[in-house]
Amino acid sequence: MSDVRVRIAPSPTGPLHIGTARTALFNFLYARHTGGTFILRLEDTDVARSTEAFERDILEGLHGLGLTWDEGPAAGDLGERGPYGPYRQMARLPLYAAAARRLLDADLAYPCSCTPDELEAERRRQEAAGEPPRYPGTCAGLSEAERAARAVEGRPSALRFRVPPGVVAFDDIVRGRVEIDAAALGGDFVIVRADGTPLYHFTVVVDDAEMGITHVIRGEDHLSNTPKHILLFRALGHDVPAFAHLPLILNPDRTKMSKRKSQTAVDDYVAQGFIREALVNYLALLGWSTGTEEEILSLDEIVARFDLSAVNRAGAVFDRERLEWMNGQWIRRLDPDDLADRLLPFLDADRILGRIERLPSFDEVRAIVPLVQERLPVLGAISDVAGFLFVEMPDLDPALCVPKRWDAATTVDGLGAAQDAVEANGEVAFDAEGLEATLRALAEARGWKAGDLFMAIRVAVTGRTATPPLFETLAALGFARTLARLARARDLVRGLDAPV
Ligand code: GLU
Repeated sequence: MSDVRVRIAPSPTGPLHIGTARTALFNFLYARHTGGTFILRLEDTDVARSTEAFERDILEGLHGLGLTWDEGPAAGDLGERGPYGPYRQMARLPLYAAAARRLLDADLAYPCSCTPDELEAERRRQEAAGEPPRYPGTCAGLSEAERAARAVEGRPSALRFRVPPGVVAFDDIVRGRVEIDAAALGGDFVIVRADGTPLYHFTVVVDDAEMGITHVIRGEDHLSNTPKHILLFRALGHDVPAFAHLPLILNPDRTKMSKRKSQTAVDDYVAQGFIREALVNYLALLGWSTGTEEEILSLDEIVARFDLSAVNRAGAVFDRERLEWMNGQWIRRLDPDDLADRLLPFLDADRILGRIERLPSFDEVRAIVPLVQERLPVLGAISDVAGFLFVEMPDLDPALCVPKRWDAATTVDGLGAAQDAVEANGEVAFDAEGLEATLRALAEARGWKAGDLFMAIRVAVTGRTATPPLFETLAALGFARTLARLARARDLVRGLDAPV
């Protein structure tokens, strides 16, 4: 066990976001690689927007990806574990109040009774003068007597942190040296609102300090907050943790990843049949690489190789096509029984949606795994690939049955001949090898190109031009259903020639 302590601190104000999952993953990887401790803390102080449903979505979503934490709320119930609890900010209010009191007593923070109107008037004046927004320090130098007088007036007061002058510098593990002049921080900032609610900059530092966080690994969007946090760590008399700001995740047009341009909820990926192995593999490569060509890596393999200092600075484009490719690679690697198990809920959903007519048994799905395993970019594509097996009759456009080099009459002839040959072969010899031999012999005897005959049969029995291998498909469909579908397709194609 090392003394590394890292955390993910999601706000339960929305479903688990790809960016949060990536940040959680990198914290998890660093903790597991170093033998440290991974903590989950819920930043639920935005009471109006936080919900228990979002909280559950985040906790269960992270667990579903295999990202487990050592301290924090347990997924699935409201318990929590770890010696630094509570791990929900709303249950930590007394700790923030005590820390605020310490800063106030040391005159490192002061009450500010400026009204929203006064602040707004000042902001407008600055805007008109072309100055950057900044608290002018109206309440910073009030004497005790002046403060007391304002309190008597009944003015509610917020608490502002006194920003000391000077440059705040730190060595970010990803970004290198960062130096920001405290003068650019917008003046003394509010840490506790007039109604007593503590603000993010304050709670995050109090918690990171109290929880002994050694490395703050988070998105680059927080980089500009870090100087404020460093000043607060120092004011509270705590060691300043190391920082690692992860590159932004970008839409394909290189703007910051957004709901409008990309699918951002992890749940939505899971619902489409992206599997956890592929999601964590892909997320790990959003900002990190092995330094080799290798890109298909399990979570354990990534843990073994992960190096925080090898994280890139450049923004990482979220490329859905690449994720689909990777997902297909991972689906191929699944144990067939496991894949069959994972496909069943998708088939059930498709049944409810009416895309297939009946839910196959585990054994039926297991039997077709060899046909579909290499053809699924996502589990949710199962009915596109093999749904024709689980309907009475597939939708069929008879024109599609007619191969390019054939006409309708030849197709009627071909389907009829195939039907006869299969029937003559009998039910006993109905397997992929036997079917292939029979149908090849038929094509040869009739002087047809095998490809044309096979295409006509393929469309006739599945309704589609692209399917798993034909003879295995027929075998999966079975003797009687194959014959029935050939007969029906033949009738429909014959109808193509009928006068309108
Ligand atoms: N609740 C903050 C967020 O979700 C945490 C930021 C941090 O890691 O400091 O962005």
